Amino acid sequence: MTEAEKLATLSQMSPTQTALVIGGGVSGMQASLDLADQGFNVVLVEKTPSIGGAMAMLDKTFPTLDCSACILTPKLSEVARHPNIELLTYSEVTGISGQAGNFKVKVLRKARKVLEDKCSGCGDCVEHCPIEIPNEFDQGLGFRRAVYVGFPQNTPLVYTIDDENCIKCEMCVKACEREAIDLAMKDEEVEIPVGAIVVATGFELFDVSKYPRLGYGEYKNVINALEYERLINAAGPTAGHLLRMSDGKIPKSIGFVQCVGARDVTNQVPYCARVCCMYGIKNAVMAKELQPDNVKNVTVYYADIRAYGKGFEEFYNMAQTRFGIEFIRGRVGEVAENPKTRNIEIRVENTETGEYLQHEHELVVLCPGILPPKELRVIASELGVDVDSDGYLFVEHPASNPVDTKVPGVFVCGCAEGPKDIPDSVAAGSAAAMRASITLAKGGEV
Ligand SMILES: Cc1cc2nc3c(=O)[nH]c(=O)nc-3n(C[C@H](O)[C@H](O)[C@H](O)COP(=O)(O)OP(=O)(O)OC[C@H]3O[C@@H](n4cnc5c(N)ncnc54)[C@H](O)[C@@H]3O)c2cc1C
Repeated sequence: MTEAEKLATLSQMSPTQTALVIGGGVSGMQASLDLADQGFNVVLVEKTPSIGGAMAMLDKTFPTLDCSACILTPKLSEVARHPNIELLTYSEVTGISGQAGNFKVKVLRKARKVLEDKCSGCGDCVEHCPIEIPNEFDQGLGFRRAVYVGFPQNTPLVYTIDDENCIKCEMCVKACEREAIDLAMKDEEVEIPVGAIVVATGFELFDVSKYPRLGYGEYKNVINALEYERLINAAGPTAGHLLRMSDGKIPKSIGFVQCVGARDVTNQVPYCARVCCMYGIKNAVMAKELQPDNVKNVTVYYADIRAYGKGFEEFYNMAQTRFGIEFIRGRVGEVAENPKTRNIEIRVENTETGEYLQHEHELVVLCPGILPPKELRVIASELGVDVDSDGYLFVEHPASNPVDTKVPGVFVCGCAEGPKDIPDSVAAGSAAAMRASITLAKGGEV
């Protein structure tokens, strides 16, 4: 089907048979699959060129250390192949009107300059592109071309041309035997009738440079946790080799700093981000797993350890007993670089002993909290849904209706409602799908 035929079909959807899901992370994917498996049509709108969300960037998942890609990849292809799911990646919702059973949703299809029905994902275009720029998917630690897919499992496996950096040399056009590249392609807008809406827009990472005393952006050997996830990932920029940025050496000593941009009223993040304790411990364990002979010392600096989930406390205990990770209770005051070694000195008060400590590490990983995406407020106001004091979507009855917004026919799942780990995001995705399917089955009646 050509793009024009696809947009024409979408504009004629039957609203009581169709749901819109905004955001293609793991929670939005789950909501889409559960709706589609019940026989409803799903239009899944994702703003980036691929679905997968943050989970696609992770290496392992706590507390089982399962490979993130191994869990996610089958779901990616299930979504892509499902006959009831229409995937609109590199697209954004620009307007919503109407009510349960009959919403009208305007979706902007950004021009990816590559025809989805013709591109086979062969990559011939990439080999000829002369432009090299930092790859956002690798948190800027690796490089991509101006014609790109962010990662090998990009779904759909269709290339995108980054118009800002493309120099229009047309080398990719000449290289593409399938004539899939159209540099003249323009953005298009389509209005789609849907009966129910699920918001699954996920989170943004807190910007750790808001704490200048922690040295991020100033010292090369201070990185954030998502950068670390990409560094230790076999498909990442160092092919999974844990190296420090200043000299490419394996760090013998690593410090993890918890609660950077969480439980901090001065930075407008008074709430606990729920996932950082566990992903910090996971990444500390991974350092020892990956380099048992080289990484001698791993220390986690924490405010409290919140190991609330199934298997979490056991995982925390195992980090100490089996992997010898040291845990120091105390908020890190400041860090400084040793100009000769580029090592990082951490100054912290151990609040259990009252001791003032100065520890040197070859690499320091800051573990940020999470924030609602900036545009969530815009989507919320389009929908007429409130946001809570932290900026996440407000649900009317968190205990009895945890995925229902106050607007009939509009549901929320995953981190769009508040910080959650993967299992809770998936469960919320299924719950939102069930609630949306009831709206559709009743023809929008509430
Ligand atoms: C460093 C780190 C490590 C972690 N490790 C683990 C772990 O080991 N185990 C675990 O259980 N959890 C872990 N987590 C948490 C996990 O990443 C989240 O639970 C999960 O990603 C939440 O899924 P989601 O679908 O709600 O959101 P996301 O993964 O954020 O997906 C949201 C999607 O919506 C898209 N989107 C946003 N706005 C719009 C819009 N306006 N229009 C269209 N699309 C939009 C985004 O591009 C994205 O694709 C970790 C988190 C971090 C930061």
